[in-house]
Amino acid sequence: MSFADLGLSEEVLRAVTDAGYSDPTPIQEKAIPYVLMGRDILGCAQTGTGKTASFTLPMIDILAAGRARTRMPRTLILEPTRELAAQVATNFDIYGKYNKLTKALIIGGVSMEEQTRLIDRGVDVLIATPGRLIDLFERGGLLLSDVKVLVIDEADRMLDMGFVPDVEKIVSLLPKIRQTLFFSATMPPEIKRLADKFLMNPKEISVSPPSTPGENIKQRLVEIKPAGGRRGDGVQKAKRDALRALLASENVGNALIFCNRKRDVDILHRSLTKHGFNAAALHGDMAQSTRTETLTKFKAGEIALMVCSDVAARGIDISDLSHVFNFDVPTHAEDYVHRIGRTGRAGRQGSAFTLITAEDGKFIDGIERLIGHKIERIKAAGTTQAEEKPERPERSKAPKEAKSEDKKPRERKERRKDRRDRDKPDEPVVGMGDHVPAFLLRQPR
Ligand code: AMP
Repeated sequence: MSFADLGLSEEVLRAVTDAGYSDPTPIQEKAIPYVLMGRDILGCAQTGTGKTASFTLPMIDILAAGRARTRMPRTLILEPTRELAAQVATNFDIYGKYNKLTKALIIGGVSMEEQTRLIDRGVDVLIATPGRLIDLFERGGLLLSDVKVLVIDEADRMLDMGFVPDVEKIVSLLPKIRQTLFFSATMPPEIKRLADKFLMNPKEISVSPPSTPGENIKQRLVEIKPAGGRRGDGVQKAKRDALRALLASENVGNALIFCNRKRDVDILHRSLTKHGFNAAALHGDMAQSTRTETLTKFKAGEIALMVCSDVAARGIDISDLSHVFNFDVPTHAEDYVHRIGRTGRAGRQGSAFTLITAEDGKFIDGIERLIGHKIERIKAAGTTQAEEKPERPERSKAPKEAKSEDKKPRERKERRKDRRDRDKPDEPVVGMGDHVPAFLLRQPR
């Protein structure tokens, strides 16, 4: 089936051609004709399936008839994160370039003034995160009684983030007679309950997420073995070394580096920056202005490496990403497919490296079961690999031998000095962090 068979207007078809799409994706093929008919949709689909265009394209045509009125948006799209909302807004710009549509992006963390000004003028599409929309409504800056089409996107993520009460409140402010398009990657009972409440006789559409990454993505598991089998900080340090070695040996244009915890995003970001890499961090605890600025710079190629968490990077679409690094193995196998699917887009070559330690075995098994094949393992080339170079210098033997074999004071003194120099960089002093006060290193007279 081609885009032309879906019933879209000339203007939208032209914009789709300009975007370089030749055929509709399965969700677009299944959803677009029903959205154009005015039916409610219950879509089970993830990001990466072309879901955004499956609702934006027909909405542009629906909006082509009619005009926006002051403070009364005609359509409303709810998104769980600011980044996703911003991405949907960009989609409207791309696909709506031959239509005269007005839109407003209502997200937290940015000034309300400009948003209020746009709404005052009248907008066709309002793309919003729930919290800011309620804020604006309660200040009287907005009327929702003219909304004819409502999109609830990533409903399961809304649930995870605690937005369900806000979403229910917003829906209670909308006209009962409307068209509702409801999308979720998964359908747990709570989401099914919401869908039953919000939708009328919906067309149910389900597209399975891609469970096999494209052949054009080179995948490798990088085995990390810290010296002496050390755990905790030793493992983290060995992973950072291995990552830097990979960054140096691979031809990295730009990369997403995933950590499982926000704290580790910060630690790794600081470490990479300290080692002179052009890196930034992205996670949910950062101020919105910083998140937006970071993302813009990364997309523009001003930042090469973005260390991120799954939630912050969810659904973010960056074309032409050369590498994905999993600093931590994701605990859900689907997240692995999701993460590495950011590279190798549109038939380009991509590479995905996952750092693995002895503790990650069961997660790797899960990933390999999901994708249906083993991933090639390679040894890390970091400097702290047990086989290559010990993290701590061998200290125990030399002094003992020195004592028994020769007792000449001058040689002993030199040997002591030698040992001191050798130990300095790696030898922690308990209770003093990394810093060793100079007086402790001075020779006693
Ligand atoms: P989404 O699932 O909406 O996040 O879309 C994922 C990516 O697929 C985005 O980069 C879109 O630009 C792209 N895309 C959407 N529809 C098509 C299509 N029919 N053909 C090729 N790429 C598409």
